[in-house]
Amino acid sequence: MNTIIDLRSDTVTKPTPEMLTAMMEAKVGDDVYGEDETVLALEHNLANMFDMEAGLFCPSGTMTNQIAIQIQTQPGDEVICADNAHIFKYEGGGMASNSGVQARLIPSVYGKIKTQDIDSAVNAVDVHFPRTSLVCLENTSNRGGGSFYTKEELLEIYQLCNKHNLPLHLDGARVFNALAVADYDATFLGNKFKTISVCLSKSLGAPVGSVLLGSNELIQQAKRVRKRMGGGMRQAGYIAAAGLYAIQHHVQLLPTDHQHAAFIAQMLQQQSFVEGMLPVKTNIIIFKLTNADVADKFQQFLKTNHILANKVSATELRFVFHLNITSDHVSELAECIKRFN
Ligand SMILES: *Cc1c(COP(=O)(O)O)cnc(C)c1O
Repeated sequence: MNTIIDLRSDTVTKPTPEMLTAMMEAKVGDDVYGEDETVLALEHNLANMFDMEAGLFCPSGTMTNQIAIQIQTQPGDEVICADNAHIFKYEGGGMASNSGVQARLIPSVYGKIKTQDIDSAVNAVDVHFPRTSLVCLENTSNRGGGSFYTKEELLEIYQLCNKHNLPLHLDGARVFNALAVADYDATFLGNKFKTISVCLSKSLGAPVGSVLLGSNELIQQAKRVRKRMGGGMRQAGYIAAAGLYAIQHHVQLLPTDHQHAAFIAQMLQQQSFVEGMLPVKTNIIIFKLTNADVADKFQQFLKTNHILANKVSATELRFVFHLNITSDHVSELAECIKRFN
């Protein structure tokens, strides 16, 4: 049987044998009592990397985002984010249901929002208006095709938020993909954002896990919300060990995924059945087929060749490159693309 080349998402990565060994050998304790040294090591490691005071290990990126929103808002407030932000589109209405806040959506360009649009979305102090209390950016942007913010863009947004006294949250589910290509480092982000959510299960091989970073005070509040949401875990060091292993060994491999994406993107652009593509900056390719029928047929053709890809609309497909996609897989995919016509 052929192995399946799974390009549906970078969440499909599985632990390597070495990662599994690290997990089996983890020293654990009850993390709700703060006694799991592997969880503590992961939290400290990431906090140091981003020059933040503290970290909090959670089961998912959805939970770290939702906690970040809850500890920085009051019910009735407004959260500014892109119209295609994960926190708005893909978290089950969580910000409304968990925190009682509403989203103030900004039309985005490749998932990114602009300083002047944020500025006009900040409500004046007036009893008629919701209180604007948080701005969320996504970096890289999932629906934006893996786009990333430049240093200049972030500095501008940061200065504006400072002017309005507004905290910034970063949905950094793919922050390491951004750091692999952007003109800033982790500490730059840590010094601009009040909270950052980092995922360990995207591209990096860890089975689950996300860490919320922030000040000691915010993370103390976050711990209570995590418990309330049912995310307080006991001997969680076994899975935190996978996250630690991922940071030490797999983050450095991300540029390979980016090269794979660039190679396939260039090839797709030469095909007559491909009509357009979002700019490919990291590990994601979102491309448009000439029509819905062609999109269906191409997806089906790939599937019969053991290659899986998701549709993001009737005419658009998405390829996501990650740890478990090898250069042999990429050659096989390239061959397959050439054969479709
Ligand atoms: C995947 C993802 C998350 C978190 O998803 P979980 O599956 O809950 O870990 C958050 N933000 C973005 C942009 C994502 O792509």
